[in-house]
Amino acid sequence: MKNFAYFRPNTPEQAVALLEANRGNTELLAGGTDLLALQKGYIAQPGRVVSLNGIAALRTITIAANAVTIGAGATLAMIADHADLRRLFPALTSAAGDIGGPQIRNMGTLGGNLCQRNRCWYFRDEHSPCLLRGGNRCSAIEGENKYHAIFTANHRCVIASPSTLATGLIALGASAEILGPKNNRRTIELAKFFFAPVGPNDREHTLAANELVTSVTIPNRGLANAAYEVRQKQATDWPIVQCAVAFAGGRNGAKATGVKIVLSHVAPTPLLAEAAGRAIENRAINDEIATAAGRAAVEGAKPLPQNGYKVRLVEVAVKRALMLAAGLPRYWEA
Ligand SMILES: Cc1cc2nc3c(=O)[nH]c(=O)nc-3n(C[C@H](O)[C@H](O)[C@H](O)COP(=O)(O)OP(=O)(O)OC[C@H]3O[C@@H](n4cnc5c(N)ncnc54)[C@H](O)[C@@H]3O)c2cc1C
Repeated sequence: MKNFAYFRPNTPEQAVALLEANRGNTELLAGGTDLLALQKGYIAQPGRVVSLNGIAALRTITIAANAVTIGAGATLAMIADHADLRRLFPALTSAAGDIGGPQIRNMGTLGGNLCQRNRCWYFRDEHSPCLLRGGNRCSAIEGENKYHAIFTANHRCVIASPSTLATGLIALGASAEILGPKNNRRTIELAKFFFAPVGPNDREHTLAANELVTSVTIPNRGLANAAYEVRQKQATDWPIVQCAVAFAGGRNGAKATGVKIVLSHVAPTPLLAEAAGRAIENRAINDEIATAAGRAAVEGAKPLPQNGYKVRLVEVAVKRALMLAAGLPRYWEA
């Protein structure tokens, strides 16, 4: 690991003041479960690291009648184990509880989860050509790509978005609060937060290098919601495909409206499956309708040579997430 100077500010404003407008030399550190691995692999080589761990204000979870606000420094364990969050937003808490093992959940934070870098093995290998590290081609497109994107049209880099919290948060209509230089604050819908990177100055999100996520706010609209992950094995690893859904009504035979179906691990950003949402809109959810939504969700998929198998997994994940949110029997556990 390259040597770096370490800063431990006490307020978000002090943290932002330590950031730089250009990427690369200064990195924010939260739980370190991603950044430190990147540093050890010489993929990230900051000369300055700004820790957020001295900022108590980032660790709060506030439940109000119409919205819930989770500080960016709240750990994955705090989210997974929070009784009110579990009752209101199972799409979020079940995903948080499935991440890694206890060590990762106790260290990893919400902000770090949303800003984590992709898992492409070419990106994480300092010796492989990679567009995101300044190379002239994406090695995954003609290389080993079984865990990469299946929605690849118009993407020169075929990473799969890794965050399984992003999907539920997008389905629930959440926004991130951002702090920038000169105390500049802005709010961005999480549906617009993510970005498909193509070069070394890009990240998988739209934050500027000198901006910080301070919190995420989820409106409390009483939506039915759930997430379902397809995993290769029950181990401390990312899922292969994940789906989160949210809708009004839709339980006890009522029609579902405002349906949002969001996928991860299938495209460079979390993907809103609009055709799948339309297939369910204003209908009562049952096995047949949920199956049809799963099929609609894979419209437009263009898998790579080794990951066509993911298409079927998306169909299954969408169907099961919908059935979970609608309170229908878990036929797969019978
Ligand atoms: C074995 C294992 C399994 C995992 N499984 C899953 C999974 O199933 N689903 C999933 O979603 N994730 C999974 N993860 C990833 C895990 O969720 C992230 O590593 C963790 O959430 C990152 O949080 P952190 O606080 O440790 O971030 P750090 O490593 O400290 O930071 C990660 C990145 O985010 C930036 N950052 C951190 N906080 C902020 C902020 N407030 N504002 C702006 N930028 C910020 C940092 O600069 C850095 O670039 C897994 C990780 C491991 C190791």
